Amino acid sequence: MNVNNQLGHSHTNNYLLKERLLMKLVKKWAAGQHMQDALIAAKSCNIKGQKAILNYLGEDNTEEERINRTTKEYCNLLERMHADQIDGCISVKPSQLGLCISYDLCRKNLKSIINGAIKFGVFVWIDMESSKHTDDTLMLYLESFTRYPEIGVVLQSALRRSASDLLHLMEVGAKVRLVKGAYNENEQIAFVHHEEIKANYIKLLGMLFGRNYMNNKGVDNALKFAVATHDSKLIEYAIKLSKTAKIGIKNFEFEFLKGIRDGLKRDLVEEGFRVAEYIPYGDEWLPYSVRRLRERKRNLFLLARSLVQS
Ligand SMILES: Cc1cc2nc3c(=O)[nH]c(=O)nc-3n(C[C@H](O)[C@H](O)[C@H](O)COP(=O)(O)OP(=O)(O)OC[C@H]3O[C@@H](n4cnc5c(N)ncnc54)[C@H](O)[C@@H]3O)c2cc1C
Repeated sequence: MNVNNQLGHSHTNNYLLKERLLMKLVKKWAAGQHMQDALIAAKSCNIKGQKAILNYLGEDNTEEERINRTTKEYCNLLERMHADQIDGCISVKPSQLGLCISYDLCRKNLKSIINGAIKFGVFVWIDMESSKHTDDTLMLYLESFTRYPEIGVVLQSALRRSASDLLHLMEVGAKVRLVKGAYNENEQIAFVHHEEIKANYIKLLGMLFGRNYMNNKGVDNALKFAVATHDSKLIEYAIKLSKTAKIGIKNFEFEFLKGIRDGLKRDLVEEGFRVAEYIPYGDEWLPYSVRRLRERKRNLFLLARSLVQS
């Protein structure tokens, strides 16, 4: 072996070591590289009385091979979740299913996944990505929802349009996960100050809890919407609203990212609330985590805080 090769090897070893170290850190956020890692994390979630939301990492996919592999992965995952009796659902990103290539390609792949979800009786969330995909994502959702009611879509309180989107979605009985929004957006279309994003979240929460769900009240435990935030003030406000709302405690859920606010998750379960944990996995964990951290300084704060607490 020549010196260059040896240097090459030590460089690779260093890289692998760093990657392994980083993976150890990020394991708070992501389950691991393989489906099996995600299923183990989901099981441990279920043991704690929480539901699991499994997401195969990846976004902005433009290679057809990768897009097909992602679609197959979700189809296999649904089968495994059923076989392993996981109490949970999946959450998919349209841009990982081909939306960056064409709407039709994404719709075709989403349809295959929904076929699997129907077969195995699993709920499907459609994540919301940056504002360039909002219209397409809502359209994909509305098309899919007419086929399969056990499907939900995400709205971001950071976007100025979200109140009107929510009104429309509520009219058709859609299921919505409310988040603040993980993407940096332009001030013309988005609230950029944290207090404004929070105020809009409160307004949207009021709309969700104020909606009349009387048709299903007490009849089933079907999910109507999700409150996905780690923000104590917003969670307290949602709890307050839930006390006077016309929906049952099991008709909405609190959703958290894996590894964050584990104590609060436990407390909410003990109080009888429905709690779900979002568990990402897959070989894209490194770019995913780096992007998440780069996108918003608050995400770095979130990771640091949960690491210190653990
Ligand atoms: C289940 C789930 C699904 C999501 N899906 C999407 C999606 O599809 N699209 C999208 O754009 N975004 C999504 N997000 C991300 C979301 O938009 C936010 O970027 C992310 O949740 C951070 O905002 P936050 O409201 O949780 O809290 P932040 O505004 O980051 O923090 C609010 C407050 O929470 C408290 N807090 C945070 N972490 C801790 C901690 N470890 N310990 C104690 N207190 C803490 C602190 O008081 C902090 O000030 C999702 C989030 C979750 C939880």
